[in-house]
Amino acid sequence: MQEGTTLARHSIASGRRAYSASPRVTGKRGCHRAEYDKSPVGNRVAAVAVVAGAFVTSIGAANGLDADATRIIPLAAGTDLAAALAADDVASASEAQIRTVHAVEPGLEAAKLMRSEALLARQHVDQAIRHASDAYNARQAELKRRQEAAAAEQARVAAAQAEEQARIAAEEAARRPKAVKPAEGAFTSGFGARWGTTHYGVDIANAIGTPILSAMSGVVVEAGPASGFGLWVRVQHEDGTITVYGHVNEILVAQGQQVRAGEQIATMGNRGQSTGPHLHFEVWVGGSQKIDPIGWLGERGINL
Ligand SMILES: [Zn+2]
Repeated sequence: MQEGTTLARHSIASGRRAYSASPRVTGKRGCHRAEYDKSPVGNRVAAVAVVAGAFVTSIGAANGLDADATRIIPLAAGTDLAAALAADDVASASEAQIRTVHAVEPGLEAAKLMRSEALLARQHVDQAIRHASDAYNARQAELKRRQEAAAAEQARVAAAQAEEQARIAAEEAARRPKAVKPAEGAFTSGFGARWGTTHYGVDIANAIGTPILSAMSGVVVEAGPASGFGLWVRVQHEDGTITVYGHVNEILVAQGQQVRAGEQIATMGNRGQSTGPHLHFEVWVGGSQKIDPIGWLGERGINL
């Protein structure tokens, strides 16, 4: 396009001095030869080229179209320029040229405008997609933030609940008795020599079926038949001491079972060498040394 414009400007200049310019330069400037063509027809061609060029230049500048689009105009317009050049009068020919140019332009301009509109529309679409993408990312980030906040809150609640449960368990443990009376009933016989032998425990008499409780927390180390006791249960406590429960009628625990102080482990019976329903209760310190249960229970606040 730049070439066309340059040509046109030169031609206008030469047109004004067409009849006075010297022809001596003609043919010595290559493509600029038209500049020195002094014929009226040549001038009109140049004028049309100026109009077409100027129009295209302004369109191109206004729409920012590429060189390819603007270059089309003078070539297309050239077809109709032939008709314009047929006019005798230079002035009317100029008007015809302008009209012709305008008559040609609408379709071309429409095409350019459509291209321009298409570019703008594409820009808008790109922009819309970018905005939508940004909005989506923002929503995702917000969603993630909320999920994390919810998870943190859930963890906080769970920790608080666990802490509360631990506190309640600790309180219950603190309230739980360290030692209990192994059975309710009448104290009928103490620890020591009896009937020419040694009685290694105490007897508490009551009805068959009376609950027998573990005197302290511990592990059931034996639950079953025992010579002289019929059935017995032995529980070993944390310090290694074993408590023995003899003549029981019914065993309610199994060997290896954890029991708490006060937990029922059996019912009172009359099995083995027994003269009536009662509990025979022994305390083996260190797991073997049999001592008087009265003192052991007394140290733990239990009186028979
Ligand atoms: Zn006894």
